[in-house]
Order: sequence, then structure tokens, then C-alpha cells
Amino acid sequence: MGKLFGTAGVRALTNKELTPEFVSKFGRAVGTFFGSGATILSGRDVRAGGDMVLRALHSGLLSAGVKVFDGGMAPTPAIQYAVKELGYDGGVIVTASHNPPEFNGIKVLARDGSEIYRDKEDVVEKFFFEEKFNTEDWRGLVNDVKREDRVLDTYLKGILSKVDKEKVRGRSFRVLIDGANSVGSLTSPIIARELGCKVYTLNCNLDPTFPAREPEPGFDTLLETAAASKAIGVDLAVGHDGDADRAIFIDSAGRIQWGDRSGTLLSEWVVTKHPELPRRVVTAVSSSVVAEEFLKEKGIEVKWTKVGIINIAHAIRNDGAAAGFEENGGFLYPKHQFDKDGGMTFALMLELLANEKVKSAELFDSLPRYYTVKTKVPAKEDAKQVYAKVLTSFGSRGQVIDLDGVKVMGEGFWFLVRRSGTEPVVRIQVEAKSKEQAEALANDIIKVIQ
Ligand code: MG
Repeated sequence: MGKLFGTAGVRALTNKELTPEFVSKFGRAVGTFFGSGATILSGRDVRAGGDMVLRALHSGLLSAGVKVFDGGMAPTPAIQYAVKELGYDGGVIVTASHNPPEFNGIKVLARDGSEIYRDKEDVVEKFFFEEKFNTEDWRGLVNDVKREDRVLDTYLKGILSKVDKEKVRGRSFRVLIDGANSVGSLTSPIIARELGCKVYTLNCNLDPTFPAREPEPGFDTLLETAAASKAIGVDLAVGHDGDADRAIFIDSAGRIQWGDRSGTLLSEWVVTKHPELPRRVVTAVSSSVVAEEFLKEKGIEVKWTKVGIINIAHAIRNDGAAAGFEENGGFLYPKHQFDKDGGMTFALMLELLANEKVKSAELFDSLPRYYTVKTKVPAKEDAKQVYAKVLTSFGSRGQVIDLDGVKVMGEGFWFLVRRSGTEPVVRIQVEAKSKEQAEALANDIIKVIQ
């Protein structure tokens, strides 16, 4: 690994790249960054190798004189929230989020619970590569790792205090929760129970091998969950990723609803709930124009950003907004915290449902209907050349947003073309009012690129 941090902390293959030697050295760098005497909260998801990574990380942090508190297994947003609420100087989380089971990773948190920014990551990397570590002498090593037992309670209280409990309880919803066999299973069933729901669970037994499905919730991985929720006849189902900062919903008709659709509905709800907040929401260019079509009519501005929740969080901090979301199921509710949070998203969706007094399928049907084509084509040319071709052929067909790939939004259609950063392909995402139109447009774009 040349650079340590990717777009969401460190991610690597467990015990191949992410070895005890690497992790303890990384822990020394992180500990040096926070400084001797700093209080750091740690936590992890369920995945295999988590304990190995966590203990090596603890060892490195202790060596640098940091006071380490271990919060145990918890959703990423629970650790983030606890860092902020319980007054820690920072945090570390051992998780690879939605990545396949053979991966693990480490996130480093600032005192407000959000991930440290790029400039701070540079400092940690410098300590790591130059091996400039604060090394305590024996007198500085008298602090053992202490348990922190308040993480889950603090998080659950935080979420439940931000929704109208009585309103949701009055509806006695039937819900199905798919915890991806990981840490969302520790909290979302409790959230639902506290909100008066009859709770069914699927994949909520903790299992480090992810036996039932891949940790990423999506159209392919949630098929069985959707079938189960239809068979049981629940009002709403939710599927989390491996660290439960994402929530993908399945409506009362058993249809999987992608995160830009749920994010659009929730954004309107948050604006309604908080008249004091700006009538503005933030989403990435990878989200559907459904957001703009639906929200503009209601006087809510949509601000587009580059892909990645960190860019969305940044835009909300700079420009102000009521909410932010990603199409992959990440929803950011700034009244709660400045990162995506699967449990909070779930609670807000139940509150919205309770307020609307309609079935969740009707709620999703109130959104504009689009047909989606997602594909990728091999491309030798670099991003600039690809985007130039696309702009020449399609730039005049609608509003162009080129801050991350090329997005064109026309009458009844939109598409996004992005060169992959990790493989020699161009990803194409098209939506249109009919299946035929979407497919034809995707083919036109492929011809132009090739
Ligand atoms: Mg995640």
C-alpha cells in the first residue's frame, strides 16, 4: 500500500495486507497524531479478523500514550455518535463497511465523530511512512484498555429522541429487519421495538462469515429479504450494510427501493419537520433526477456534489441544508450527526410513514417513475477524452453537470458517464420514462464512447 487512506479510511485484505505488523504501526501513527493522554473510543463490526485488527490497533495506540476505551461491537454511526456525545478526543473503528467478507479496514474519527479530513490523514500518513512515533517510556504505559459500555444505549437514546415516538407507536407497524448478520442487528430491532413495531428479523444473528448475503445491500443481495417481507406482509423492510450506516428499504409491495428514492422522500420529510432549516438538500451526481423533479415542485432546492458522503457532508457544512443522501442508501440527517446513519434513517422513515397515513408502496409510488439501465464499457482513453466525446454528442440535450463525470439532465431522461478510478472501464447510468428509451440512449452513449 502506497497511500494508506482511500475514500473511506483504510480498506485492505484481512491478514494479507492488513496484518498485525501493519495495523500496530498504523496504530502508533494514529496515536502520535492524537497525542499522549488523548482519550480514544474504539469499536468494530462483526467481520472475521476484527478482533485481531482491533488488538493490534490498541497496542499501537497504547504505545503512543493514548488512553483507549473499547466500545465493542456496534454500528459505525453508533461509535461516531458516542465519540461526540460522551466527549472523547477521537475514535477508531475496525470495519470494511459493505466490502466483501475477506476485507477489513480502519476508520479514524475526529472529536465530533466524523471521519478525519484529508489534511489530517496526510499527517497520519507522514508519521507512518517516516516512522515518527511518540514512544512512551514505561511510566506512560500504566493505562490499560478500558471498557466503554454506554455506546449502544447512548446511540439508541439519541435516535429515539429525534422522532415522535408516540406518533409512530400509534401505528403498530409490522417491520422486517435484515441486519446483514452484522452490527445493525444490535440496534435496529430495538429501535423498531421502542417505536411500537411488531419486529421480524432476517440475518440478524451475528456471523463473521456473512453466510446469508454479501454485506452490501442492493437489488441482487436483498431479493430473498424482499420475498420474505412480501410473504409476511410487512409495512416496511430495511436492509443494512456490514456496519449499518446504510439503509435500503423494501416497500409494502415487496419492491426494493434504491436510496435516492427513499432519500428524496426523507428529504421532504426533514424539511417539513424542521421549518427552521434551509429548504435545500444535497445529493451526489449518481442520484436520480427524481430528486430534483419531486423536490423542486415543493420549493426545495437540490444541490449536486461529487460522489461520496464526505463531499455531501462538506457541502451541508458550507452551504447549509436540511439533509443529504446517496443512491446507495446513505442518508445524512445533520440534526443527528454529520455522517450517514442507517438506524436514524430507519427511524425517520417510520416517522414519515406514521405521518402520511398511507402504505409505504403508495408513498414510493408518489415519486416520478423512471426506468434504469446501468452498464459499463471498456475504455482505453482517459477520463478527459471520454467526457469530451460525450459532451460533444450530448451536451446540448439538457443541463450538464460535470463536477464528477458527465451528467446530462434532459426532458424525461438523464444519464451519468463516469470513468472508473480503479479499472479501465466507463460506467454508464441511464434513466428514462420508458425502458426502450433508456436502452436506446445507453446504446447511443456506448457507440459514442467506443
Ligand atoms: Mg457502511
